[in-house]
Amino acid sequence: MQYQNSLQYAQSCDAKDSLKHFRDKFLFPKNSAGEQLIYLCGNSLGLQPKRTQEYIQQELNDWAKHGVEGHTDAENPWLPYHEFLTQNMAVIVGAKPSEVVIMNTLTTNLHLMMVSFYKPTKTRYKIIVESDAFPSDKYAVESQLKFHGLDPKDGLILWKPRQGEELCRFEDLERIMATQGDEVALLMIGSTNYYTGQSFPLKKITQLGHKHGAMVGFDLAHGAGNIQPNLHDTGADFAVWCSYKYLNSGPGSLGGCFVHERHEKNNDLPRFAGWWGHNKQTRFNMRHEFDPLEGAEGWQLSNPPILSMAAIRASLDVFAEAGFENVRSKSEKLTGYLEYLLDGLNNENINIITPRNKEDRGCQLSIQVKNADKALHTKLTQAGVISDWREPDVIRVAPAPLYNNFEDVWEFVQRLKKIL
Ligand SMILES: *Cc1c(COP(=O)(O)O)cnc(C)c1O
Repeated sequence: MQYQNSLQYAQSCDAKDSLKHFRDKFLFPKNSAGEQLIYLCGNSLGLQPKRTQEYIQQELNDWAKHGVEGHTDAENPWLPYHEFLTQNMAVIVGAKPSEVVIMNTLTTNLHLMMVSFYKPTKTRYKIIVESDAFPSDKYAVESQLKFHGLDPKDGLILWKPRQGEELCRFEDLERIMATQGDEVALLMIGSTNYYTGQSFPLKKITQLGHKHGAMVGFDLAHGAGNIQPNLHDTGADFAVWCSYKYLNSGPGSLGGCFVHERHEKNNDLPRFAGWWGHNKQTRFNMRHEFDPLEGAEGWQLSNPPILSMAAIRASLDVFAEAGFENVRSKSEKLTGYLEYLLDGLNNENINIITPRNKEDRGCQLSIQVKNADKALHTKLTQAGVISDWREPDVIRVAPAPLYNNFEDVWEFVQRLKKIL
C-alpha cells in the first residue's frame, strides 16, 4: 500500500472506508474538558457498543416481568441463552459452532482445558509455553504441573527469543521438539503475544506438536476479534480467550472456549463437570449420571450470568454486521498506516518490536522507546491518548478497526512526535 503522511490523506482513507459508520456505534471516553480521547487500548479493554445498554436492559426488563419464568419466557430465553452467541463467535475464531462455547472466564477455561488435555505420564509430562507468556497463563500452567506432583523447574519449557532478539522463531520451537519432543505432553501458546504483538503460526505449531505426540492448545486473549485464527483448520485440540479485549464485551466479561470436533464425543477424557454441561433433555431431572453434551458445550459448569452474556451478544452482533473479513482487512491497512507514520518519524530511539509482516501480527504495534520511562506514557495520556505502557520501555498501541480510524492514527503519531 502507498501511504501518505498528511491529515488530508488520513481523512481521505476514512472517507473511502466501508466500515466508517461503525465508529458511531461505540461510546468514546472524553477528558475533563469534554474532548473525545484517542483510544488505542482495545487490546486491554474494548470500547462499549452503544447497543450494549439496550441488550442488558432487555434482560433486566424480562427479569422484572417474568422472575424465574424468564428462563423459558424471556424474549431471549435464559436456558439456551449461550446458544444465541455461538454462531457469531464461531465465525470470528474460524470454528464450527459445535466446537465453541462462551462460558466462565479465560483462566478458568484454561484450567478446565488442561484438566482434559494435559495428561502427564512418567515419561511425557512437560509443557511448552512462550517465554513472555502472560502471567496468568504461566501461573495456570505451573500450578497444573504442581497439581500433578511435578516440579515446574523441570516440567516447564520456555520457547524463548534468541539473545538480543525480541521475537520467537519457529525453528527454535522445532529444535526443542526435535530434542525433547517425546517428553512434551502439551504445547500451550498465546496465539498473539500480549507484549510483542507477535502472532504465531498456529497450524504449523499444531502440526509440529501432533507429529511428536503432544496436545496443542492456544490462548487467543489477544487473537480473538483481532486476527483470523481459523481454529478448526489449525487442528488445535483446544483454545481459550476472553471477550473484553478486542471483543468489546465489558470489563471482566465471560470467556470463550474451543474444543476440536475430534474430541466432541470423547467421554473418556477427564473433565471437571457441572450441570450445564449435562444433556439438556435430562438436566433438570437431577438424578442422572453425568451425561456430557457433545462438543464444547459439554465443558460448561454453571448456568451463566445473563447480563454479561447480553453484553457479549450485543458486541458479536456488531461484528456480524461488519463481517469479520472486512474487519481484518481494514485492520491490516490501519496498522500498516501506523507503522508507516512511525517509520516516518526517523527517530533512532524508536523501535517497533512487533513483526513487520502482517501475517505475523494483529492490529497492535509495540513501540520500544529507548531511554524512555513511564513519564512518556504519562505525557501521552495528558495529550489525550489512551495507550498502554509495559516496563521497561514499551508503548503498546492497538488501533481497533471497528472504532478507530486513519485520522486517530495520524493524530496519535503527531502527538507522540511532539512529546519526543
Ligand atoms: C488478558 C489476558 C488474560 C486475563 O485472564 P482472565 O482470566 O480473563 O483474567 C490471560 N491471559 C492472557 C494471554 C491475556 O492476554
